[in-house]
Amino acid sequence: MLFQRAERLNGIELSEIVQISEAAARLRADGRDIVALSTGEPDLPTPPHVVEAAHAAAQDGKTKYPPTAGIPDLRTEIARQARVEMAQVIVSTGAKQVIANAMLASLNPGDEVIMPAPYWTSYSDIVRMAGGTPIVLPCPMEQGFKLLPEQLEAAITPRTRWLMLNTPSNPSGAIYTKDEIASLATVLAQHPHVWVLADEIYQRLSFVPFTSVAEAAPELVGRMLVVNGVAKAWSMTGWRIGWGIGPAELIKAMAAVQGQVTSGACSISQWASLAAITCDPKLLEERRDLFAQRRDLVVAGLNAVPGLRCDAPDGAFYAFPSCAELLADHGGPFKNDADFCGWVLEEAGVALVPGRSFGLPGHFRLSFAYAQDTIAAGLERLKSAVERKL
Ligand code: PMP
Repeated sequence: MLFQRAERLNGIELSEIVQISEAAARLRADGRDIVALSTGEPDLPTPPHVVEAAHAAAQDGKTKYPPTAGIPDLRTEIARQARVEMAQVIVSTGAKQVIANAMLASLNPGDEVIMPAPYWTSYSDIVRMAGGTPIVLPCPMEQGFKLLPEQLEAAITPRTRWLMLNTPSNPSGAIYTKDEIASLATVLAQHPHVWVLADEIYQRLSFVPFTSVAEAAPELVGRMLVVNGVAKAWSMTGWRIGWGIGPAELIKAMAAVQGQVTSGACSISQWASLAAITCDPKLLEERRDLFAQRRDLVVAGLNAVPGLRCDAPDGAFYAFPSCAELLADHGGPFKNDADFCGWVLEEAGVALVPGRSFGLPGHFRLSFAYAQDTIAAGLERLKSAVERKL
C-alpha cells in the first residue's frame, strides 16, 4: 500500500525559504554564479570562547543525557537574567522547538492563533501541525508592518488561544515601541483567555531602543511565553539552542512534549550557550553595529532600484521592500511577488524570498546576514536586471 501522510500534515511542505535555497544551490551546481540573499543565517563565526567552552564540556565528560528541560546551570542563568525562577525556563533544540512545544502543549483542534503578517513562515505551519487555525492579520508597510489595537480587538474570538508577537520581526525588522505594546496589552486586558507568545530572538540585533514585551506589559506575564535563543546574535544557528520563559505550568506541559520528542537539548551545545549568554556585551554591540552598516547599504541599494520601495528596518537582519509597482495590477511586468523572485533568480542570479511566504504578498525579503561584498554584488545585479527589464 502507498504511503499515506497524516492529515495533520495537509498543506505542510518544506518551507519556501528552504526550497529557494535549494534551487539556488542547484543553479550553482550547474555552474551559475548565484548570490544568495535568502537565508537568515549570519556569516560571522561562532565566538571562539563559545567553541572553547564546548570543547571543554566534551572533554569533561558532559556527554550524558541532559535533564529534559535543560541543564540547571544554563536554566539558572537564563532565569537570573530574566528575573524569574528556574521552573519558568525550558531549554530546547532551537527557538523553533520552543514554539512547537508551546503549540503542541496548548492547542486543541480549531483553536485560533493570531499572527500579524508579515510573520516568520514557520508560525503558521507549526500552528496547523498542532491542530490550530492561524488567523492572519495583514499589517501593511503603511502601518510599519505592525499590528494595530483595533485589528487585534476585531480578531479575538472565544477560540483565540495565542497572539504571536515577534519583535524585532522576521521578515520586516519592525520593533514595537513600549507604547505600542501597552496599547495591545490594553486590548488583551479585556480578553483574559488570550495568551501572548513574544518571540524576541532578534532582541540583541536592535538598531533602535528595544523594549521587551514583558517589560512593557508586566500585567501579562502570567499568560506570556517569551522565546529567545543563541542562533542569531551569537551566530550559533547550528548549535540548536533556544529557550522559553513563562508560567511554570506551561513550561511543565512543554517539557512533557519535549520529553517524548527529543528529550533534553544537546548537552555540549547547552554548555556552549552558557558561555555565549555570559559573554562581554561589547561582542554583541560590535556585531549589532556591523549589521546596522549592512542595513544602511541595503536600504540605499534597494531604493535605487526602479519600482522598489524600502523603509529602514529597526532590527534583525532583513529588509522587506515593496515590489508592488513592478507587478501586473500596477501595470508592471510581473504577475506577483513569487514570479518576480523567480525571475530575479534566473535573470540576475540573486536568491530572494517572496512576501507571500510571510503572509504579505507584494513584497520580498532580502537577508543581509551576508558579507558586505556579497550584499553589494546582489544589489548591483538586481538593479541592472530590473533596469534592463523596464
Ligand atoms: N523565531 C524567529 C522569528 C526566527 O526567525 C527563527 C529562525 N529563523 C526562529 C524563531 C528559530 O530559531 P532557532 O534557529 O533557534 O530554531
